[in-house]
Amino acid sequence: MTKLYGGVETGGTWCVCALGTGPGELVAHDRFPTTSPRETIERIVAFFSSDAHPAPAGIGLGSFGPVDLDPDSSTWGSVTTTPKPGWAHTPVAGVLRERLGVPVAFDTDVNAAALGEQRWGAGRDAPSLCYVTVGTGVGAGLLVAGRPLHGLVHPEVGHLRIPHDTVRDPFAGVCPFHGDCWEGLACGPAVSARWGAEGRELPDEHPAWALEAGYLALGILSIVMVASPHRVILGGGVMERGPLLGLVRARLRELVGGYLSLPLLGEGIDRFLVRPELDDDAGVLGAIALAQQL
Ligand code: ZN
Repeated sequence: MTKLYGGVETGGTWCVCALGTGPGELVAHDRFPTTSPRETIERIVAFFSSDAHPAPAGIGLGSFGPVDLDPDSSTWGSVTTTPKPGWAHTPVAGVLRERLGVPVAFDTDVNAAALGEQRWGAGRDAPSLCYVTVGTGVGAGLLVAGRPLHGLVHPEVGHLRIPHDTVRDPFAGVCPFHGDCWEGLACGPAVSARWGAEGRELPDEHPAWALEAGYLALGILSIVMVASPHRVILGGGVMERGPLLGLVRARLRELVGGYLSLPLLGEGIDRFLVRPELDDDAGVLGAIALAQQL
């Protein structure tokens, strides 16, 4: 019988669990709000312990961060300094391994989503890629040679510092740590706080979108210049605004300024900076891919 693998994506707002081997091959799937750590972990354990389906051979967990990914650390598998209430310094992966008695692979939610998109989605033929999400926060996962990039910790591109013209945009930013870092200026809550209205209430011609596209292009330019990914996948709730992706592509092309005379950063930018294909399931499918790599 084919081995089934478990995927868990613990996001800041939603937790998604799935069991199977890939898209279209899931035997169980559930989504519930990420509440307290205790309640959320109990629901994950209940999902995988159910008699309604076979037990997983292993589980992949993609978590909102920052997280401890160091396998030699006594706090491996924990969420660390998050401002999310109740979750700072919470062990998750080790608890699941103990409670469910299966191996658990652990990474960030965005690294998992990057892996999912590379395996089954918009990154299929890209040897390296960056998956950027712009929603409640701004985050990115980077894959190099098929593996999520880790270092001292893991990339936290949402907290890049980007140029902030305070005459054009006096908004101070919403990051509790840095104010006007990339996330502080460009995440969904920043759009709402700056303009006093939810992004979805602002019309396409509102100046919010040119400003937003400018900020997104600045952050992506830094990623491109540092990591040189073959493709950038840009998703998240804010990117659901129809014309925004086109504005970001145009601004990124301007910012590259003809340096690196590659078609993909010029007239071919529509093939370089793309939408995700797995939508809301990129993270949980990527978590299944993580488990399969165990
Ligand atoms: Zn920040």
